[in-house]
Parts: sequence; C-alpha cells; structure tokens
Amino acid sequence: MTAEKGTSSKEKVAHLKAMDVSAVWHPFTQMQEYALEEPVIISSATGVRLTDIDGNTYLDGYSSMWCNVHGHHVPEIDEAIRSQLGKVAHSTLLGLSNIPAIELAEKLVEISPEGLNRVFYSDTGACAVEIALKMAFQYWQQRTDPRPEKTTFLHLNGSYHGDTLGAISVGGIDLFHRSYHPLLFPTLSAPAPHPYRCSFCAEEAQCNQGCNIAVEEILKRDGHRITACIVEPLVQGAGGMLVHPTGYLERISELCRAHDVLLIVDEIATGFGRTGTMFACDQEDVRPDLMCLGKGLTGGYLPVAATLATDEIHEAFLGEHSETKMFFHGHTFTGNPLGCAAALATISKFEKDATLEALQSKIAHLSRALGKISELDHVGDVRQCGFIAAIELVANKKSKRPFPVEDRIGARVCSQARQRGLLVRPLGDTIVIMPPLVIDLPDLDMLLQIVQEAIQSVTGGSAGG
Ligand SMILES: *Cc1c(COP(=O)(O)O)cnc(C)c1O
Repeated sequence: MTAEKGTSSKEKVAHLKAMDVSAVWHPFTQMQEYALEEPVIISSATGVRLTDIDGNTYLDGYSSMWCNVHGHHVPEIDEAIRSQLGKVAHSTLLGLSNIPAIELAEKLVEISPEGLNRVFYSDTGACAVEIALKMAFQYWQQRTDPRPEKTTFLHLNGSYHGDTLGAISVGGIDLFHRSYHPLLFPTLSAPAPHPYRCSFCAEEAQCNQGCNIAVEEILKRDGHRITACIVEPLVQGAGGMLVHPTGYLERISELCRAHDVLLIVDEIATGFGRTGTMFACDQEDVRPDLMCLGKGLTGGYLPVAATLATDEIHEAFLGEHSETKMFFHGHTFTGNPLGCAAALATISKFEKDATLEALQSKIAHLSRALGKISELDHVGDVRQCGFIAAIELVANKKSKRPFPVEDRIGARVCSQARQRGLLVRPLGDTIVIMPPLVIDLPDLDMLLQIVQEAIQSVTGGSAGG
C-alpha cells in the first residue's frame, strides 16, 4: 500500500491525527473533548458511504451536514466540474459574467416558485440570508413609495439561519446565540409551532392555531415597522427538526401580504428535494418575496448559495449611478463557475433520474420505520418531514422529561452509531436522520437498524410496545 494510491502509511495517519487535533479548529465542536477522542479523518467517498484514513467505512446518515443529495463521487457532477475546470476555475461576477452562472440562474428561475426572477449568488447559506435581509431592508428605503420606518425583522423562536451576525440576529437558538447578544440588531420574535412541546395546544386534542395567531398579533401591532418575516419553511432544522402543522407556512404568507411585510423563505436545508418536493414552498403553493438557497444546491459538492428575489424588489434598486441605489454587496467568489457547473449537473440529475419520484417510497418506508422506533422506551417523539427525520430521546416518556444535559445522551447515541458504521449528529438529545436522497432501501434499513441499536445501547431501553 502506498501513500500515492490514497491509502496512507501508518506514520502519515498518525501525523494527520496529531495535526488535526493540534492545528484544526473544528466548527460547533468543544475542542477540549474532541482532543480526547480518535479523530475520524475522511479520505474518500462513493455513493452514500464515506471512508476514513484507517479504512473504516461509514454510511452518511446526515448527508455530510444536510447538503449531499445524489451521493458522493457522482460521475455526472464530477464530470461537470472537471469539464469546467478545463475552461476556467474562477472569474469574478463583479461587472463580468460567466457561462455556468448565467445558465444556473436561468434554471433556478425556472424551477423555483413563481415570481422569483432574479438570482444573487454568494458562497454560504449564512451569506444568502445576510443578502436577503439587506435586500429587504434597502427595498423599503428605495421603492417608489418608500417606507423608511420599516427597519426591523420578524423571526421565529428556535430559528436558525446561519452563523454570521445578521443571520444570528434573526436566529432564535439561545444556546448558540446568547453570547453575541450585544452585537446583534434588535428584532421581533414569534413562538414557533412545536407540536410535541407546544405552549399553545400541547394539552389539546387538536391544534388551536395559537402559533399562527401569535404571528398575526405581532404583525397587526408592529407590521408598519417590520421589513420582512423570515422562516424556515415546513420544518425548523437546527432548532430540533420542528415540523410545522400543515397550512402554517401558507398562513404566514397570507399574513405577511396582508400586513405589507416581505416574506423571506430560508430553503437552505429544505431545498432540493429534502421535504419530498423540490422546495418546501411548493407544498403549500407559497410564493415568497425572497428565497435563500445553499447546501443541496451543488449536490453538497461546493460552496455556492443564492438569494432569489422578485422583479419588484429588483426594480427598487434601479436608478442613475448618482442615486446610489445599487445593492452594495458582493463576494470574491460570487457566481463561481466550478460551483455553478456542479449545481447545474445536480439539477439536471433530478430530471434525468426522476429523483423526486423515486424518493416518495423511501419517505413512506422511513415513516413506517419511525413508527416502530417511536415504541422504544426512551423515544419521546419522532418527527418527519419528507426525507428529514428526528428522534427525540427523553428520560421519561410519559412526562416528556428530558435527560439531564450532562448525560450527553444524544452525543453518546451518535458515538455508538459511529462505532457501528453510521455517521449522524444530534441536536441536543434529538437524533437527526437525513441521508442523501439517493440512498436505497437496504441501506436505509441498515441505517435505521444502527440508530435503533445505538439508542438501545445508550438508554438501556427495550423495544417496548
Ligand atoms: C445550514 C443552514 C444555514 C446556514 O448555511 P451555511 O452554509 O452553513 O452558512 C442557514 N439556514 C438554514 C435553515 C440552514 O439549515
């Protein structure tokens, strides 16, 4: 075995592991704990499997952080990047253009909800959100009938829109966001729907629409000063995979229209088939004013994000140079040709492989399996939205009492899963299952089997009934 062939020598492996701990600062990671465990260093991947430098293979149960769509090492996407690499790797979009960026914009306009005719590129989801916030803000200042008093934003509790300061300002996860509080701009927040732990209707047999009514009250009272309402459509991801009741998004959209508030839909996690349709918005026929895309846009290959806007918003930025109405925003790698080529190949693969059609039976299969998992002793709640699933573990099923934080139940379950050959990450004590859309039924069964074993090995619970 030689290093050139991709398998590493013992010394090389040891060196990489030592340097990973001493030189790399990992995101969302307590490095003090990280240093105590053997790092898993990925060296290659194909389909739904990742291989590390020790030769261990893992199922990619979280789509490499929610972004992989068609699997790894996909011939068509690899080829699209290689072919573009033979032409030009990068050239700026500031005052210039490039072929893949144009073709991708055309495609995104075609497949996204009606009315979104303008594509602004960036390189990460958080950026796409910053851009939407700035566009919404500037739109009200500059439109023909300006509304300069519109300076704040409405978001949901438990929301997650990325980690830059603007995105954190409209974020609602206290644990992630509280230490930055003095740096953030003030916003308004509304209670999020959370059927399992709902503050409005958890004790009632039927949803009482309390969460919708709360949004309505805020918009009635403060709509005149709200620029836009930003939501993760159908399911709030990092907040715990909170699945919204049917009709919630549509109602938010109607309320925003009625109160002259723009609707920003953050489809960074939900876009590109994740909820069973191309976009979550499609399920409730919602037409937002601004839409943020990232993650799955390039099939999870390269950092490309996009903010889609309506013509009405775009027009507010038109004028003579001296009017200084342009959108003052750009990034070095905006519209990167390699990334846009990967995105184009990702989207055409949806059509070629009928990915969404094939996905429907997997969603149904996942749903049946979750039904069984929900019977385990310490599974308080299972949630599903399309090909997103979450399993919330609790100390007491009846009272819904959580495990003590210091027990790190979620992290321990994922560590057990890893030992059994599956990569997943928890959100607190909620285990998230989010494999690439391309996974087949036998692999999906293997994944679910490992999750169940990992839960039982940590919580000691039996398969109750
Ligand atoms: C991941 C995510 C983001 C942030 O995207 P990055 O590319 O990590 O900056 C924003 N919104 C939602 C809903 C996400 O899931």
